[in-house]
Amino acid sequence: MILDSDQIALRDAARRFSRQRLLPTYMQREKDGVTDRALLREMGELGLLGVDVAPEHGGMGVDSVTTGLIVEELAYGDFNVSAVVLVMSLCGAIIAKNASPKVVAEWLPRIPRGDAILALSITEPKCGSDAGALVLKAKREGDFYILNGEKTSTTYCDCADAFVVFARTGTVEEAARGVTAFLVPANTPGIQTTRFKDLGSHMSGRGSVFFDNVKVPAENRLGGEGKGFSQVMAGFDYSRALIALQCLGAAQASLDEAWAYTKEREAFGGPIARFQGVSFPLVEGETLVAAARQLSYHALELRDAGQPHTVEAAMVKYLAPKTSFDVIHQCALTLGHYGWSMDLPHQQRMRDVMGLEIGDGTAGIMKMIVARARAGRAATEERGIAPA
Ligand SMILES: Cc1cc2nc3c(=O)[nH]c(=O)nc-3n(C[C@H](O)[C@H](O)[C@H](O)COP(=O)(O)OP(=O)(O)OC[C@H]3O[C@@H](n4cnc5c(N)ncnc54)[C@H](O)[C@@H]3O)c2cc1C
Repeated sequence: MILDSDQIALRDAARRFSRQRLLPTYMQREKDGVTDRALLREMGELGLLGVDVAPEHGGMGVDSVTTGLIVEELAYGDFNVSAVVLVMSLCGAIIAKNASPKVVAEWLPRIPRGDAILALSITEPKCGSDAGALVLKAKREGDFYILNGEKTSTTYCDCADAFVVFARTGTVEEAARGVTAFLVPANTPGIQTTRFKDLGSHMSGRGSVFFDNVKVPAENRLGGEGKGFSQVMAGFDYSRALIALQCLGAAQASLDEAWAYTKEREAFGGPIARFQGVSFPLVEGETLVAAARQLSYHALELRDAGQPHTVEAAMVKYLAPKTSFDVIHQCALTLGHYGWSMDLPHQQRMRDVMGLEIGDGTAGIMKMIVARARAGRAATEERGIAPA
């Protein structure tokens, strides 16, 4: 992939910020366990947030590939800060395409300013992969919808300013065709949240969101009734390629640190880099990361060209988190007993990356999407996972 001069300038700005500002405090943000609003506003001022939001709404309107470059660079310094950029891109794209002018004007410009955190709530206690089976109810009453039910596993559950909520407006039998999306401000009466104790990504926070007779103006509906499922599926094609780059950015950080260590650490009279048993596993990691990176950018290039990219996005969403986890694991082993320490970032990166082996769709579901594209519906019989 050949970058133009604007892309190189933006990538380099993100790289400098990530390595100088984020990397040294990556582990501290895990200890703090909160999303740092001041940091987000600082990133907004530097033009690192909501970069793909259209200029008339305060963004730079850059393409998907350029957004990917920024996500990857930021993840090198902090996987979870990079995730904010990614989720804002996903939610921003859904709002830009589907929201009423009033909702667009109120919420979209806040994303590039670092002034709003938006969460995406689709998963429920009884359905994740089979998202078309969701039951949280939205009942129309005049100019409002009344929402009742529980969402779970929502990232930013307790710090979001608004939730993009997927709710059932149709019957259960209508499955995915009965799902509608809404933008619900987090301060709407009737919303309560609880946070989970997670293995990683403590900065972001993940948990349940309870809706008890939550009254949402009809103008907060995103798109038409029954269109919610296809909207999120289209968004996932984008976020899956970005997630891949996020994971690969974290893996590259561990690789660079491991290479540096192999030049400094001595055993048997010289640096351990001279042992092929040490260098070759890192070379294999570099190769897999480079290959997965190219496929990720290919998916984004297809998106920018307006071409189908569901299959490529699913392939790389299965490949990159797994590859990154394995590569970071190998880097930790390269550091011998130091790699086992909680004082070094490899363990945190491994835990953070593992979350995205599940979040946004598991590897099993990604493989089913590809199988269905190749073998048609004969490949699967499940509801709700067909590429929209
Ligand atoms: C870090 C993290 C962040 C998340 N953030 C969000 C968020 O912000 N918003 C949100 O709504 N959700 C979020 N999720 C939830 C996530 O999208 C779901 O966990 C995911 O879609 C899987 O659903 P599930 O956990 O219910 O697993 P299930 O659907 O119950 O699946 C359980 C296991 O069965 C496998 N499986 C299920 N069906 C099939 C099949 N047909 N073929 C083969 N294997 C199958 C799955 O691969 C999995 O291994 C997040 C999850 C994590 C871990």
